[in-house]
Amino acid sequence: MEYVDSLLDLIGNTPLVRLERALDGAGASKPGEGPLVLAKVEYLNPGGSVKDRIATRMIEAAEASGELKPGGTIVEPTSGNTGVGLAMVAQQKGYKCIFVCPDKVSEDKRNVLKAYGAEVVVAPTAVPPEHPDSYYNVSDRLASQPGAWKPNQYANPNNPRSHYEETGPEIWRQTEGKITHFVAGVGTGGTISGIGRYLKEQNPDVQIIGADPAGSVYSGGSGRPYLVEGVGEDFWPDTYDRSVADRIIEVSDADSFAYTRRLAREEQLLVGGSAGMAAYAAKQLAAELAGTPEGENAVIVVLLPDSGRGYLTKVFNDEWLAQYGFAIGEAAKQTVGDVL
Ligand code: PMP
Repeated sequence: MEYVDSLLDLIGNTPLVRLERALDGAGASKPGEGPLVLAKVEYLNPGGSVKDRIATRMIEAAEASGELKPGGTIVEPTSGNTGVGLAMVAQQKGYKCIFVCPDKVSEDKRNVLKAYGAEVVVAPTAVPPEHPDSYYNVSDRLASQPGAWKPNQYANPNNPRSHYEETGPEIWRQTEGKITHFVAGVGTGGTISGIGRYLKEQNPDVQIIGADPAGSVYSGGSGRPYLVEGVGEDFWPDTYDRSVADRIIEVSDADSFAYTRRLAREEQLLVGGSAGMAAYAAKQLAAELAGTPEGENAVIVVLLPDSGRGYLTKVFNDEWLAQYGFAIGEAAKQTVGDVL
């Protein structure tokens, strides 16, 4: 019989899918014929995102160190995905979970956390990090209660470590060591730092490229609000290794959202806005490399962190986009004339 003992056994080993139509001719269909662009589809993890990977590792390390005791409470500021991973593992192991989310996080995402048995506290986005109501400070207060433990994905070395020990080796193995460029959005920086460091150790020539929402610190901003969720920061987290990325590509909300919509229609990849942002940066890179000697054998891997299911009322809703002045929905929409 073929089965696993727990859903958690299915975390990782996500596939690479070649992108084609959404690359507007810049991508190759075979290695050696131009930039081959491969998407690492992380929404196929059981909790629906790349963050399943770090949750197990952070909890097991805290149990081993004694920071998390039987019956304890896990408290974390999270935009949703880390919460799902933590909530799944916590339920199985008998811990309570309280998550603090910024108010821009979709209601769908918050409801998912509640469905897994977690408690959700909503904090305002429009206050500076040092404000008592900021989502970092609210979670600090909750985490100081007896029995509480804060994984702190922004400083926990097990966040980048899980990518260094698992996601990086997967990508290296799946591309048979032929990867030349790795592209990922940067939130805590755990993904890019862990994978980037592993890939550079295998081959120092592999280029590591961060994709960042315009206005975030990683691309030289000060944290001006942007709408893409899960990426960009207004501070430099400990989990981001500044020595790893060779380059940061800045992507606007408009381009991120338009490309997220294209991925669903043209590649059948229903992904979140941060995936659209990273894939847009990968497409830009492929366009730069196309037709150059370097481009011929380029193998670009772009990591798509989560599913579009959590954003159906936002990125995939024309009215929501229009409210922020994005004409993407209109442009993507078929007219009666197109259909007939
Ligand atoms: N996309 C989404 C939707 C996320 O939730 C996150 C995590 N904050 C990221 C991208 C970025 O990943 P990392 O924190 O590893 O940089």
